Amino acid sequence: METTINGTKLVLKIGDITEEDTQAIVNAANSTLMGGGGVDGAIHSKGGPAILEECKKIRQTTYPDGLPTGEAVITTGGNLKAEYVIHTVGPVCHGRFTENHEKLLYNAYYNSLKVAKENGIKTVAFPSISTGAYRCPLDLSARTAMMAVIDFIKNENYITEVRFVLFTDSIYYYYEEALKEILNEA
Ligand code: ADP
Repeated sequence: METTINGTKLVLKIGDITEEDTQAIVNAANSTLMGGGGVDGAIHSKGGPAILEECKKIRQTTYPDGLPTGEAVITTGGNLKAEYVIHTVGPVCHGRFTENHEKLLYNAYYNSLKVAKENGIKTVAFPSISTGAYRCPLDLSARTAMMAVIDFIKNENYITEVRFVLFTDSIYYYYEEALKEILNEA
């Protein structure tokens, strides 16, 4: 599915985010920034050690206690097609979705796009943050993701394309439903 909002292309697709050719891809990292499972593991393994090196520097300087949930930082993309990886930390939900989970997830998407803009990046790909190991409900997470990205696109006229790269058909379905719903409400 594809739509244009305020001049920015918003694309939903099924795929593996490590193969994307956007200028930046977003990593659903954990606060240690030292790698992990799921999409985080896939990005570090395909991108190579240069990504972890920069993450270690960030831990030694700006975020010695780890990257707080909802914040975002940028590193090289290493061997990836994408030039940069933007690392963000979504909330851990354990199947629940409180207002606080919603706010933190919203911030993770919004702040990732802010970091993109600050670094002159115009095309960004996102995975479905927090809906794997962190177990946030897909329907509400998809809606929150869409709200955050659409708010950013409306507030800041800079990014030309935001792509959601969803790992399975069923995850894609939730994002498509959320986007259709929001477009109908507008
Ligand atoms: P979190 O810890 O934030 O929940 P996970 O990596 O466990 O992060 O899961 C986030 C989402 O990323 C899940 O929907 C999972 O299916 C998806 N995912 C895993 N690997 C990839 C990949 N290579 N490309 C895109 N999405 C992926």
